[in-house]
Amino acid sequence: MLNLVLFGPPGAGKGTQSVKLVERFQLIHLSTGDLLRSEIAAGSALGLEAKQLMDKGILVPDEVVIGMIRSKLTSNPQANGFIFDGFPRTIAQAEALDNLLKELHTSISSMLALEVNDEELIKRLLNRGKDSGRSDDQDESIIANRIKEYNNKTAPLANYYSAQGKYTGVNGIGSLDTIFNDLCSSIEKLK
Ligand code: ADP
Repeated sequence: MLNLVLFGPPGAGKGTQSVKLVERFQLIHLSTGDLLRSEIAAGSALGLEAKQLMDKGILVPDEVVIGMIRSKLTSNPQANGFIFDGFPRTIAQAEALDNLLKELHTSISSMLALEVNDEELIKRLLNRGKDSGRSDDQDESIIANRIKEYNNKTAPLANYYSAQGKYTGVNGIGSLDTIFNDLCSSIEKLK
């Protein structure tokens, strides 16, 4: 199986590139942000609880997202592999993911990290906010919170995966196609 963690700060382009990678490599896309927004749209109790945090730019509890990922992994036993987008976001989530994959007799192939500076991120997120309709993209202080959460809780994951020899950095600034081609050549090298 080809199991990729697509990594990078909010606004790095993970969602956009995931869609293209899924098509090229026939993988299943698992985005915890998308899964949470579906729960909100469905008006579930989990969605209501998550929305309170997401609207402030704060991470939702580990148990919530780990539970969602567990159910998606176990319901797709025939998959070629998965792209994890926006997950894991904490060390506890990364450890839980390693354990879940072990139960399925597989593991993470690599973390592909999209590298983009803060100034460019804020510009992209405010721009996206104009038409995404996402409330967490509209306000500069919420965006700042998301970047702060990322730097405190998520950035350490780069070390977690490089310690396992699984970190691959890719320049996240440039045309969509250039970035996509860079990601594809990194993936080809894994095969
Ligand atoms: P972005 O990467 O642009 O911030 P996402 O859609 O990945 O967008 O995430 C939006 C929000 O959903 C986050 O700010 C956070 O509140 C919540 N969220 C998504 N994935 C996770 C996760 N793995 N752990 C905790 N919270 C998450």
